[in-house]
Amino acid sequence: MKKIVVKFGGSNLREPQDIDRVVNVVQKYGRPLVLVVSAFYGITNALIACVQAAKEGAGTKAALAESQNYTQTLRLLKKQILEANIDDTAHRARTEKALGERLDQLDRYLTGIHCIGDVPTFVNDAILSYGERLSSLLLTEVLLSRGIAAREALPEDIGLITDGVFGNSACDFLASTATVSQALADDVVFVVPGFYGVDQSGKTTLFGRGGSDYSAASIAACIGAESLDVWKDVDGFLSADPGAVSAPRSISQLNYLEAAELSYFGAKILHPRTVEPLFDRDIPIRILNITRPERGLQPYTIIDAQRHVTHDVVKSVSSTEDVAILKLHGPGVGFKSGILAQVTNTLDQHGINIKSVLTAQTAINILLARDHLEAAYAALSEHHLAGVVNVSCDDAVAIVAVVGDGVLDASDVGSAIASRALSAALAGGVRVRLAAAGASEVAAYMLVQQEDRKLALKLVHEEFFG
Ligand code: ASP
Ligand code: MG
Repeated sequence: MKKIVVKFGGSNLREPQDIDRVVNVVQKYGRPLVLVVSAFYGITNALIACVQAAKEGAGTKAALAESQNYTQTLRLLKKQILEANIDDTAHRARTEKALGERLDQLDRYLTGIHCIGDVPTFVNDAILSYGERLSSLLLTEVLLSRGIAAREALPEDIGLITDGVFGNSACDFLASTATVSQALADDVVFVVPGFYGVDQSGKTTLFGRGGSDYSAASIAACIGAESLDVWKDVDGFLSADPGAVSAPRSISQLNYLEAAELSYFGAKILHPRTVEPLFDRDIPIRILNITRPERGLQPYTIIDAQRHVTHDVVKSVSSTEDVAILKLHGPGVGFKSGILAQVTNTLDQHGINIKSVLTAQTAINILLARDHLEAAYAALSEHHLAGVVNVSCDDAVAIVAVVGDGVLDASDVGSAIASRALSAALAGGVRVRLAAAGASEVAAYMLVQQEDRKLALKLVHEEFFG
């Protein structure tokens, strides 16, 4: 029988009582599963702050104390969770000891960077994986205490091998598929910590922020799962962010491309890379809401390979402020070969990903994640780029995208989508800075003045959803 891979994220793991809901869900399935878990809510951010503090205050007693304080806080938190979830005192004590050993390892890493005053990338990845390593151990023991045959399965033990890129790795399916599926074959509930795999030499490499979704998808691909079930605390994908429009609709069906574009353009529900491993394997993703136990195992959104073109084409309007424009000005940049090659090489060398490029004769516009803008500007300013007279930055922008299978279709409806979205925004007074359609089969987007983001969302949503 094929297994289902079930993912619980930080939004399912906030309070000690949340574990109970997770256990209830596992019981509802009533069959062997592979669970993939994230860190408890906020833990990864706290670990990042801890690394920063240990590094900045290298050698000082205060910095060492601060990081040790944090692992102490984690010890107390885990103790509370155990007290709320495991009744048997001997079992609780054993689990506390095992968690304590993991926290000791974490302490040793932090002490290490405190001493050397630097954080090698492999150490950074190892440290940040501890949020997940604590979750998986804890959940396994709670499941066992409730009589469920559970077993923790660490990526290093099951052979979840990556391409070795620290901080942003990808799964190496050739190296992982056979070992992972063999390791997860038994009829028990396996609990795997998300967010990381290991390189060929066994070093922890992270899948990037929010990467547990990608872990779960990779494992689902390796074992040929029946489905990937992602539990959230919302009603699946919605037609827009409920914070920006009133009464958005829940979307019952999406195809892989639509889900990927929605995530890319700001929908927070799935990591944009989640569909990548599943795409050509036809394993559906099902999004369920843990706060609605009355719905049982019925998903809100199912994502698969099927095309579902709806009457008005657009299924959702998404948006993000995590974007910035780097502009290279020069009267002839559009006509000169090699500039973009230099730019992309330089950015690649600095580990900076380009989100999009739009060029004209006198300017090249490069869209980047906001966090990367400063580093990109510095990297390009250092180089003399022939033909470029000036480089400028703009981060007072936001992206608003319409996503739906058929956005690019030659039909009357399809070809009108981008202009309807744009006209609706412009007619309502939105300051549109750039617009693009055609790069993706299922998405068109515009860059608007950042203060106009919510207005644009509202107007474009109204245009398609009344
Ligand atoms: N805990 C990790 C993060 O916060 C991974 C995840 O939640 O998916 O980025
Ligand atoms: Mg997450």
